Amino acid sequence: MGSGQVTSTSELFDFQGKRVVVAGLGVSGVPAAKVLHARGAVVTVVNDGDDARAREQAAELEALGITVRLGDGATLPEGTELIVTAPGWKPDKPLFVAAERAGVPVWGDVELAWRLRGPDAAPWLAVTGTNGKTTTVRMLASILQAAGLRTAAVGNIGVSLLDAVLGEEEYDVLAVELSSYQLHWAPSLRADSATVLNLAPDHLDWHGSMEAYARDKGRIYEGNRVACVYNVEDKATEDLVREADVEEGCRAVGFTLGAPAPSQLGIVDGILVDRAFVPNRQKNAQELAEVSDVTPPAPHNIANALAAAALARAFGVPATAVRDGLRAFRPDAHRIEHVADLDGVAYVDDSKATNTHAAEASLASYEQIVWIAGGLAKGATFDELVARSAKRLRAAVLIGADRHLIRDALARHAPEVPVVDLDRTDTGAMLQAVTEAKRLAVAGDTVLLAPACASMDMFTNYNQRGDAFAAAVRELGA
Ligand code: ADP
Repeated sequence: MGSGQVTSTSELFDFQGKRVVVAGLGVSGVPAAKVLHARGAVVTVVNDGDDARAREQAAELEALGITVRLGDGATLPEGTELIVTAPGWKPDKPLFVAAERAGVPVWGDVELAWRLRGPDAAPWLAVTGTNGKTTTVRMLASILQAAGLRTAAVGNIGVSLLDAVLGEEEYDVLAVELSSYQLHWAPSLRADSATVLNLAPDHLDWHGSMEAYARDKGRIYEGNRVACVYNVEDKATEDLVREADVEEGCRAVGFTLGAPAPSQLGIVDGILVDRAFVPNRQKNAQELAEVSDVTPPAPHNIANALAAAALARAFGVPATAVRDGLRAFRPDAHRIEHVADLDGVAYVDDSKATNTHAAEASLASYEQIVWIAGGLAKGATFDELVARSAKRLRAAVLIGADRHLIRDALARHAPEVPVVDLDRTDTGAMLQAVTEAKRLAVAGDTVLLAPACASMDMFTNYNQRGDAFAAAVRELGA
């Protein structure tokens, strides 16, 4: 971790007369085009698609005097001085290749919001990681609120950063969730404190390699002022802190499920303990909350709580607010959500476990599991997940397009585990999966939907998949 000259913290940008291309209509593109236009930029929106929705959005922007080019997101318009892109656009697109050749900077929605902040804007506490971002950001907002601070959970979470930065509402501090895509396109972002919760292969098709993915995640630490918070149990996150260029005096603070060393937060006898933000941390520790204050008290979720606590403590929040904020926090739907108990068997919906890293955390939370898994694998392999979780598996019920990959991994690493392979993808498939799981479970077990896969082969999204699971459980319990 080196400390460098941080020059761009309050660098304000004059958009007047600048020729700006907004790449991609949609949730971030339309508001970006409007605000740039309002600041005097000469805006051209380019969009790959040319469907009814795009035309409707184009008409709205054209009425304001903004140029919109539908059906061609590849060519760089003559004279472009800046591109503001939708975060999901892949860096290897011809538009960006042309921009790089011409020396035109490319910003994402986060960079734009960062540059448009006023001079007295609220500082950002930023969270990224392969899994746990939304949960941690919500926990953090809950803790900050408990401390009486005006705050909101924003970013890759539903509330746009642009709205938070430009809206009427005044904030003392923002709890910001950032995806790896957003970080890729946010070169001058400087958070007050930030964390990378964990790092496992994901979205590699977009980033090109694990190194590039890690590098983009690591950007969140650049220019941190107070603390870079890392996961002691995930060395890659600590390496990213070491590589970051931060402000003078910024600290590296770890979180661990074990006993904390000085400059760490951790667990001692069921208590969340702070040995970082206390006077004389060689000798002292501050009790923050009990493990039972965290819902659900699964190991990975306690790690999320410690990361949220570290960011809040870095901002000066008292210990009691950490406890109160964690107690007040309720997880979002489909994240280790307890649906019902039937005949002594718990039914848990973790439909949001859409990759193997998340599913492994989920499986580690229960002793004996009938596991419902499968869907779209997105290029993942399942050997490690199955090998590490085998001893907990009572049985597995497999659904979805890529279920054979999980079946093969089970055959290799857990041949004794009974497997039901459901060869159907219609809407009744989930009911059959839960029926099979119920048959295989014995009292004390958990039937866990933790698919380790995306849902789009059978469902609109993970919400619908989780809802189908809950509906099936209710039907069987009725
Ligand atoms: P994200 O916003 O990063 O997708 P969420 O908080 O929505 O993360 O959680 C998504 C899923 O990831 C959860 O349902 C759970 O299965 C898993 N998960 C949450 N926190 C962690 C963690 N710290 N480590 C591993 N997996 C986690």
